[in-house]
Amino acid sequence: MGWPLKLVQPESSSQPRIPFAKAEISAEAQAASARVLASGWITTGPEVVEFERDFAALVGAEHAIAVSSCTAAIEIALRALRLPRGAKVLTSVMTFCGAVHAIVHAGLEPVLVDINAGTLMPDADTVADAVRRVGPVDAMVVIHFAGFPAPVEEMAAAAGLPLSRVVEDAAHAVGTKVGTDWVGTLSAATCFSFYATKNLPIGEGGMITTDDSDVAAYARQVRIHGMSHDAWKRYLPGAGWRYGVEVAGIKANMTDVQAAIGRGQLQHFLDWQDRRQGLAEAFDRRLSRIAGLTGPQWPDQGLHAWHLYVVQVMPEFGIGRDEFISRLAERGVDCSVHFIPLHHQPYFEQLLATQAPQSFPVADAVFPRIVSLPFYPGLTDDMVDRLWEEIDGLRESAAREPRLAQLRVTA
Ligand SMILES: *Cc1c(COP(=O)(O)O)cnc(C)c1O
Repeated sequence: MGWPLKLVQPESSSQPRIPFAKAEISAEAQAASARVLASGWITTGPEVVEFERDFAALVGAEHAIAVSSCTAAIEIALRALRLPRGAKVLTSVMTFCGAVHAIVHAGLEPVLVDINAGTLMPDADTVADAVRRVGPVDAMVVIHFAGFPAPVEEMAAAAGLPLSRVVEDAAHAVGTKVGTDWVGTLSAATCFSFYATKNLPIGEGGMITTDDSDVAAYARQVRIHGMSHDAWKRYLPGAGWRYGVEVAGIKANMTDVQAAIGRGQLQHFLDWQDRRQGLAEAFDRRLSRIAGLTGPQWPDQGLHAWHLYVVQVMPEFGIGRDEFISRLAERGVDCSVHFIPLHHQPYFEQLLATQAPQSFPVADAVFPRIVSLPFYPGLTDDMVDRLWEEIDGLRESAAREPRLAQLRVTA
């Protein structure tokens, strides 16, 4: 996972960098992966079956189907809805590109929706507004941005869809509750990510959860070449060699090495979530003392999984977002941005050009202000102090600069 990490050391700081992300792999996960690697069975097998059982129990779902990524999970979940080719699927304009590629690769047409400026994801109003403009849609992918609980039912109603036509992108939402329910059973299928930076990191991996046994059976088949049930067992001692191919599958199964890591990680998951909650409270306290920074919204009900802590750099801060990020990097703190609105990307721009005209005024207004701060359970209290001292320092120097510039002009 090279891309989010910058390896340059600043000349100015003698203190260690605070990276944007740091995957914590528990001792149990490390031992379990070593055990599987030595076992002679390293691809999909009994560990995957156990991990699926553990994960289904965590979110309270009937079925969990492990796959290679959340992107693959979304594509498979959408295919399980068996919509006609080119059917319209509503989703956020402010999401990860992979989530929309999944719609395209499922043979469907993405319809992008603007966001709420507070939660940075679509809400019932933006969804209803989009449907008024582009006409009825056939399905929707709901994102729980940063781990904030999206009101899935309300949004489905706003889109004029039954919940059986809704798929959730829960890449940020292992540990989110909508009301009192864990995210995982609220729609036709929920798609999770175990990517290196996510709340339950494996490195790569994904999971589909559902209470619908047809969706589950279809997903189990599609994830491994469309082969008949339990195809992975065909190389076990004494197993038969024959299999059937019943649908056009893809290669998106999870390996036993990944599943073993996932099971080891699950033992720490709730502690990590507690730490994230504590960090969010600490960040809020520090942020409230700094002019020109707006913090993330807290939900009125349910539980935020705090995958990301996104702040908005307002004009009163004195410098813009890009400078905020580059100057903080000079001070040894690495940030990121979630997400570049998709209509700013050439591929999606071309796609939008073929559709009824749409605009995304909120995403456009908010994008130049958003910054994701380093935020993970391994962030120590000392690192939190240091991070906010650097932001304080940045704010002080930004506040001094207009006066300095004036002095230079009048001198
Ligand atoms: C990370 C992410 C994905 C993709 O997850 P992968 O497991 O890497 O495929 C999808 N949607 C959102 C919102 C994400 O942040």
